[in-house]
Amino acid sequence: MSIEKNLESVLKEIEGKNIKLVGVTKTKPNELIMEAYATGFKRFGENKVQELVEKQETLPKDIEWHMIGHLQRNKVKYMAGFVHLIHAVDSLKLLKEINKQALKQNRIIDCLIQLHIAKEETKFGFAYDEADTFFSSIELEELTNIRIKGLMGMATNTDNTTTVSNEFKTLRRYYESAQVYNEKNNIQLDELSMGMSSDYKIAIEEGTTMIRVGSAIFGERNYN
Ligand SMILES: *Cc1c(COP(=O)(O)O)cnc(C)c1O
Repeated sequence: MSIEKNLESVLKEIEGKNIKLVGVTKTKPNELIMEAYATGFKRFGENKVQELVEKQETLPKDIEWHMIGHLQRNKVKYMAGFVHLIHAVDSLKLLKEINKQALKQNRIIDCLIQLHIAKEETKFGFAYDEADTFFSSIELEELTNIRIKGLMGMATNTDNTTTVSNEFKTLRRYYESAQVYNEKNNIQLDELSMGMSSDYKIAIEEGTTMIRVGSAIFGERNYN
């Protein structure tokens, strides 16, 4: 298996399209990340804060780090100084904490709002109607050090491509209708983060702007 070849083949799928690739490196050692970095690729994602922080400290400083996983409020402070984009914001409480830590760092932190689009109950995120309530809330307007850059969703883990494609289609439609919220000064919905190794090709067909691909580039993960 060659990381360089895998990366090249995923990049080929999005060539000429307005789609960014986040290379998901969770559980993978720095040596493997450096193989991708050596090709000029610099956008990586992690789903655990501790691992994200350790890798950020030891790897080149021009890497753009994405936090893609479920995030606990008490851990925001560890990454607030460097994180490029937080993908899975699923409550106003969490967003307030991100705002507070961003303020301390004198930064504006870009965030995506996670929508619950899958059939599984285990996945996090707002329901569509909850998201409308959230986007309309007065409290959101007071958060000066965050910027809501878009939406994120994870489809049902299934071989049924019609199910996956419908979930992405619905999320894309919502993303388009939510553009009305851009009139608020901390909302600018430019990104739709959907698609991972098993379903990124479907996500491309359904209008993703950001795919998060791990195992298809770096190989299967062993969780011990
Ligand atoms: C692990 C992970 C991915 C990538 O998963 P692969 O199947 O390895 O591509 C994408 N998004 C999130 C939120 C993840 O936790």
